[in-house]
Amino acid sequence: MVKLAEWQGKAVFRKYGVPLPRGEVARSPDEAEALVREAKVPLPCVVKAQVLAGGRGKGGAVRFASSLEEVRAAATAILGLEFKGEKVRELLLEEKLPIGRELYVAMTLDRAQRLPLLMASARGGVEVESVADAEIDRQTVDPFPGLTGYEKRRAAKVLGLSGPQARSLERVLDSLWKVFQQEDAELVEVNPLAVVGDGLVALDAKVIIEDDAAFRHPEYAEVRDDRTELEEIAREKEIAFVQLDGNIGVIANGAGLTMATLDVLKELGGEPGVFLDLGGTDDPKKVTEAFLLMARARPTAVFLNIFGGITRCDTVASGLVEAMRQVPAADRFPLVARIRGNNEAEGIAILRSAGVTAISDLRASAQAAVDAARGRA
Ligand code: GDP
Ligand code: MN
Repeated sequence: MVKLAEWQGKAVFRKYGVPLPRGEVARSPDEAEALVREAKVPLPCVVKAQVLAGGRGKGGAVRFASSLEEVRAAATAILGLEFKGEKVRELLLEEKLPIGRELYVAMTLDRAQRLPLLMASARGGVEVESVADAEIDRQTVDPFPGLTGYEKRRAAKVLGLSGPQARSLERVLDSLWKVFQQEDAELVEVNPLAVVGDGLVALDAKVIIEDDAAFRHPEYAEVRDDRTELEEIAREKEIAFVQLDGNIGVIANGAGLTMATLDVLKELGGEPGVFLDLGGTDDPKKVTEAFLLMARARPTAVFLNIFGGITRCDTVASGLVEAMRQVPAADRFPLVARIRGNNEAEGIAILRSAGVTAISDLRASAQAAVDAARGRA
């Protein structure tokens, strides 16, 4: 998923004419102070952590400042935060607007109905998950005519807007619809959309670009998302690698087998940590790279589950033995292998002679991996 940070989402909004507060990005307290001193951001202002997690307002990651000293203090405090596991590296400084009501609007996909969905709620400003279903109005939108007048009028009514405020909403919705369509977004959310005088202003922006359309948008290629550092390296090497919370590393071939392996470990009381899908490859170079990446994630034990269909068990096994030799001694981990299929006996023999526990039964081998992770191997 390509999740845009608030400031990136707002840059997209600006292009499509969504009204926004004046704002600039800073990466240090000095930069933050300079923005205000050079009048690029007026006082009073809002200092906001640029992290992907929501709930910043409640979590101390959005602060107000009305003097240079307060700007520096807010910037220093927020840049020092680790917000929901994410280090804050960027700030958005914006003019603080005198706001009235806070509303919620979003365009997303209703996958069950296979249609875009417009959501609107008068209960904006709080996390949408905490708003009762009945208080969120949902309208599916036919993508061919696009957002129509009556849909916009209904949203205005639900939000309690009339006159110039309702007209402002219609323009905002037209812009959001364009963002949704032209940028191939799967979510465009404004929470809060604030009432400011006769108009509306987007105080927050959450934009997620549909992964499958990313090829149409090279401009988002550099966007940081929620991949870990190792996942990022894996992506560049075209290795399917995902980090979870547990301590057992899993290497398997094929998405289905990988998922089933995680389930079996879990059922036997293990905690799968990292998983790596070799797919159809037995290319020793690729296997080595994958293995070294696994080592860097520091699993307590690794469970290798290979089914040799087209892939030959013995070539995968040789690749692994070769890869194991390249793992620095300090990063070694106990390895349990379950290997089955094409050239199984040869594969098991190669692994066993390299000191790996190799078993062809799934449960027995998964149990051995769980035990190894508990230090009972
Ligand atoms: P989130 O909590 O991570 O979704 O962060 P938001 O960007 O939604 O900001 C949280 C809250 O800060 C909003 O709901 C507003 O109440 C408040 N806020 C943000 N910008 C402004 C502003 O310019 N003026 C005022 N008065 N409040 C603001
Ligand atoms: Mn918000």
